[in-house]
Amino acid sequence: MVNFLKIKNFLLDLLFPIKCLDCGKEGVWICNHCLDTIPSFNHFICPVCQRPSSNGQPCPDCQKKSALNSLWIATNYQHPLVKKLITNFKYQRVRSLAKPLGQLLVKLLNNLQVLNLLPDSSTLLIPVPLYWQRERQRGFNQSNLLVKQINKHFPWKINTSALKRVKNTQSQTQFNAKERQRNIANAFQVIRPNEIKNKQIILLDDVFTTGATLQEAAKMLHRAGAKQVYGLALAKRAN
Ligand SMILES: [Zn+2]
Ligand SMILES: [Zn+2]
Repeated sequence: MVNFLKIKNFLLDLLFPIKCLDCGKEGVWICNHCLDTIPSFNHFICPVCQRPSSNGQPCPDCQKKSALNSLWIATNYQHPLVKKLITNFKYQRVRSLAKPLGQLLVKLLNNLQVLNLLPDSSTLLIPVPLYWQRERQRGFNQSNLLVKQINKHFPWKINTSALKRVKNTQSQTQFNAKERQRNIANAFQVIRPNEIKNKQIILLDDVFTTGATLQEAAKMLHRAGAKQVYGLALAKRAN
């Protein structure tokens, strides 16, 4: 099976040679040089109103409205290369982009010294789940692949069994903030609350727009007894 896959990939590479999506260098989807040119998001925003916040915590006005205890974002979706990478990753199904994109998340977590805050393996890394049908169509959950990259560098355990997506929501991209909230309401369920109770959780989604998805999932995790839920996103997209 592995050999068959290798042959298939070899033939695909012959027909469609892999090139850096930015500079065209052969052999990689994104070369290290171009990856380094991607700017960090480098400021914190309140996870609800998106006004500047000193450390990603909800601002005093939004504290009661936020299920996320903090929000950490790696980069900006508006950056043309970031957009290109994420589009290829999700919609062209270039799985191997998980590694360089994961590096952006690892860099952020290192810069923020999150290990000081969450030093041990009792912390859970939870990727925002997709509805099973969507995951089957795509062949993978992009957030699962990203948490696997994070897991290589930090002691936190991945948990994909506790939180489920139980509603086949429409894609959020077409909706405004209010509609997004309505669309995502009750989309998630914690099916194994014993795995969530009293845990510190890093909840990952690829793109953060209004935060409706992360907030809704975090709400369910808190209902199941989570101690803290930190939102982590690869890129901030304009509302
Ligand atoms: Zn390049
Ligand atoms: Zn706020």
